[in-house]
Formats: sequence, C-alpha cells, structure tokens
Amino acid sequence: MADHSTAPATLAAAPPALIDIGINLAHDSYDRDRDAVIARAHAVGVLQMVVTGATLAGSVRAVALTREHPGRLFATAGVHPHHAAELDAASLAALAALARLPEVVAVGECGLDYFRNFSPRAAQRQAFQRQLELAAQLDKPVFLHQRDAHDDFIAILREHARSWRGVAHCFTGSGEELGCYLQLGLAIGITGWICDERRGTHLAALMPQVPAERLLLETDGPYLLPRNLTSKPASRRNEPAYLPHIAVTVARARGETLESIARSSTAAARALFALPPP
Ligand SMILES: [Zn+2]
Repeated sequence: MADHSTAPATLAAAPPALIDIGINLAHDSYDRDRDAVIARAHAVGVLQMVVTGATLAGSVRAVALTREHPGRLFATAGVHPHHAAELDAASLAALAALARLPEVVAVGECGLDYFRNFSPRAAQRQAFQRQLELAAQLDKPVFLHQRDAHDDFIAILREHARSWRGVAHCFTGSGEELGCYLQLGLAIGITGWICDERRGTHLAALMPQVPAERLLLETDGPYLLPRNLTSKPASRRNEPAYLPHIAVTVARARGETLESIARSSTAAARALFALPPP
C-alpha cells in the first residue's frame, strides 16, 4: 500500500526478508481475501508467518491454514486468557494433540489478562499453568500474552522453570517488566503499538535495551493498525504487509538500518520457532 516511509533505495532491490511472528490470520476479517493478504505480505518481504491460535477452534483453523501454505505459514496452539474458562480436561487433551503437530511451533497464545477479565482470574491462572506444563512436556516455546497482570504472570512462569524459551508477544510494558522478561530468557515481540505517537513513545525509548537476538516483529493483525501509516485502509484492518513499516519504526528507535533489524529479527524468529528457510 502507499506507505513510503521505507527508503526508495530499499524498495528497488528485493525487500529484506521478515517474519510476522504474531498474526491472527484465522480471524474472520480475512475470510474474503486471505490469499491476497498472504500475497501482499510476500510481495513486501514477509515470507513467513506464525499464525496465532487463541482458542481451541482457532488453533484448529490456524493448523489448517499452515497445510494450505506449507513452509510459509506456521501455527501456535493455545487458549488466550480471555477464553481460559473454556479450557476443561477434554479441550486440554485436544489442545495437547494439536500442539504436538510439527507445524505447531509454539504453545499459546496463553497468559493472563487482568485488564479485561473476560475469564475469572483463577481460571486464567489455571489455564496458563496447564499450557506451560504442556509446552515443557512437548519442549516447544511459549507464546505469551500479559496485560495488567505482571506480578502473577512472572510468579507463575518462575514457579514452573527458571528460564523459558518463548516470546512475550505484543510487549508494551515498562523497563522493569522488560528486565524481568529478559531475565527469564524470553524474546520480546514488538507490534505497531510502537508506531503510536501517543502511547508508543516509552516503548521506542526501550528498544535499544532489547538484545537483537531476542527482538521479534509482529503485526498482531487484524488488530493494532500502525497509527503512523501515511495511507490507512478504510477498513482499519491491520495485515502482515504492514510489518516492514513496524520494522522501520523499530530500526529508527534503535538507530540501525531496516536491513539490520530485518536480518536479526528474522534469524531470531527462525531460531526460536525452529523454522526452515523460506
Ligand atoms: Zn495477545
């Protein structure tokens, strides 16, 4: 689309390869044009994507998408804290079977969300713990969501292991929270939140503190359309083709080039999720 914030010089050559590590591509807002969304992403260098599973049914759909686009799409399988109350013994068993599949590269989205509290907090904590156990059993990374629940979140992670392989997806927290996550061994997922001049400024200031080998990029589409896109779609739907725009914003905040952030974040995503080359 008409986002000209990437330098023309980089557009002339093949765009640098990027991986969108958090895209809700099974969301029904993509039902009409999903293949076009994938093609637009590919055209701007987003060669691989990790499709977020946030419910059992959504994780099944995410896995189905990976089969239509092998080697290009991968999935997570998990139950978001909003849906934690749905995770009973039967759905946990079904989730475990799904998470075992090779195209499922992480357990999650799981975690705690005390901002919305769509599921009772006790149910959230329990569903989070079950999914951490599952990830440990299967030796897969975790795809983590946390909002307004930092203390309980860190306590539960520490209770299960001293260090984790996984990503704190859509990180928007403080320097102190960032320090805790890094200490736990987690990678940090940065979305278009950083492109918001009202609420993303503190996040931009933290960018130099994230080691390059732990910095991942994600759109979290269809949510979080970057606010500083020069031309926004009428639908306000976010999509993986906007990932280069986020990458440019992160690169600027770190004082590095788009090529350098693309190289390091792609290598980091490939290592964490054990993705094959595109
Ligand atoms: Zn999330």
